[in-house]
Amino acid sequence: MSQTNEQISVQEETQVLDALDVWLKKEVANQVRHFDHEDEYPHEIVAQMKDMGLFSLMYPVKYGGLGFSASSYTKVITKLSETWMSLAGVINTHMMLGQLIERFGTTEQQSYFLPRLTNAELHGALCLTEPDAGTDLQGIKTHAKRDGDRYVLNGSKMWVTNGMYGSLYAVLTKTDPNAQPAHRGMTMFLAEKDVGFNVDGKLKKLGYRGVESAALSFDDYSISSDRVLGGVEGKGLQHAMGGLELGRINVAARAVGVARAAMDDAVKYAQERETFGKPICEHQSIQIKLADMATRVEASRLLVEQAADKYDKGERCDMEAGMAKLFASESALENATEAMRVHGGYGYSKEFDVERYYRDAPLMCIGEGTNELQRLLIAKQLVKRSPI
Ligand SMILES: Cc1cc2nc3c(=O)[nH]c(=O)nc-3n(C[C@H](O)[C@H](O)[C@H](O)COP(=O)(O)OP(=O)(O)OC[C@H]3O[C@@H](n4cnc5c(N)ncnc54)[C@H](O)[C@@H]3O)c2cc1C
Repeated sequence: MSQTNEQISVQEETQVLDALDVWLKKEVANQVRHFDHEDEYPHEIVAQMKDMGLFSLMYPVKYGGLGFSASSYTKVITKLSETWMSLAGVINTHMMLGQLIERFGTTEQQSYFLPRLTNAELHGALCLTEPDAGTDLQGIKTHAKRDGDRYVLNGSKMWVTNGMYGSLYAVLTKTDPNAQPAHRGMTMFLAEKDVGFNVDGKLKKLGYRGVESAALSFDDYSISSDRVLGGVEGKGLQHAMGGLELGRINVAARAVGVARAAMDDAVKYAQERETFGKPICEHQSIQIKLADMATRVEASRLLVEQAADKYDKGERCDMEAGMAKLFASESALENATEAMRVHGGYGYSKEFDVERYYRDAPLMCIGEGTNELQRLLIAKQLVKRSPI
C-alpha cells in the first residue's frame, strides 16, 4: 500500500508522533498495568485510537486514509509499543488486511471494503494459522467447497489477533486439497461474521495481553464467490506471503519499542538504586548491560528503517525485513531479560513494567514467521543473491 501512497511530509509525521506521545502519556500509560494484568480488552483506548485516525494510517488518501509510508508507520508502531505493545497489535493486522485488498483485491472489493476499513467501520484480522499448521501453511485443513455462486467453509483457525472484536477477516483456505503443488489449491476469502462463523473463545497467553487472540471455526459457513480475494482461486498462499514483508517490518518495529522501553526503565532505575554507597549505574557490570542494551536498540532501529525504506521504494526486501525482524525481536528479548536483572528482585515484581516486557518480548520471535524460519529465508536469499 505504501508504495503507491504519496509520502507524508516530515512535518506531518512529527505532528502525528507528538500527538501520539501526549496521548500515550496522558491517557494510556497509567492504565496499561490494569489491562495487562486483568487481560481485559481496552475498549475506550481502542475507540480513542479510531478517533485519532490510527486505523487509517497506511490507507490511501483517496479512500480517506492518511497515506503513511511504511517508514512513517513503523515509527508510530514503535512509539505505541514503548508504552504498550498490545496496542500495535490492534492496528497491525488491520493495516495488513488493507494492504492485501489494495494489492490483490478486485476493483469492486477495493471500493467496497477500503473506505470502510479506513474509517474503522470495519476492523481487520488475518486467519492463516490453524491448530495443526502455522509455519507450514500449505498444511492447513480449512476447506472451501464451491456451491454454485457460493462457497461453503469448514475448519478451524488459531491465534487470530482481533479475532473477537474484528469484523473483516482474510481467511486462508484450501479450495482444492489435492492440488500439486499444494499452494495452487489455496484461496483467500474476505469473510464477515455470519451464520456458521464461530468465535470459539479467547486464548490465555503469557504476554501480549488485553488484545484478544482467538480461536475461530467455520461450520458450513456460506460465502459469496465475489469474496474470493482477487476473484480467482489458487492464489491464497501467494496473497498470504505477499503481506509478510510488511508484517515482518511491523513486528520488528514493535520489538524496537519493547527493547527501548526496557532500556529506558533500566537506565532510570540504575540511577535511583544504590548499593555499596553508590548508584548501581556506577558499577561496571551494570554499565556493560546498559551499553549493550542501547546498542541493540539503535542497531534494531536502523535495520527497521532500512527495510521500511526499501519497501517504500517498491524494492524487494524479504531479506532485509527478515533481518530486521530477527535481530530486533531477539534484541527485545535480551533487553527485557537484562532490564529485569538490572532491577534485581523488583524486576520480578508485578509493580514494575519490566516483567511485562519479559512476557511480551517472546511473541515477536514467533509472530509473522518464527525466527528459525527467518534464518532459513535469510540464508536462502544470501546464496541466491551471491551465486558463484
Ligand atoms: C499471540 C499470537 C498472535 C498471533 N496472531 C496471529 C494472527 O493474527 N493470525 C494468524 O494467522 N496467526 C497468528 N499467530 C500465529 C503465528 O503466526 C504462529 O504461531 C507462527 O507462525 C508459528 O506457527 P506454529 O505456532 O504452528 O508453530 P510450528 O509451525 O508448529 O513451529 C514449531 C517450531 O518448529 C520450528 N519450525 C517449523 N518449521 C521449521 C523449519 N522448516 N525449519 C526449522 N524450524 C522449523 C518453528 O520455528 C518453531 O520453533 C499468532 C501467534 C501468537 C502466539
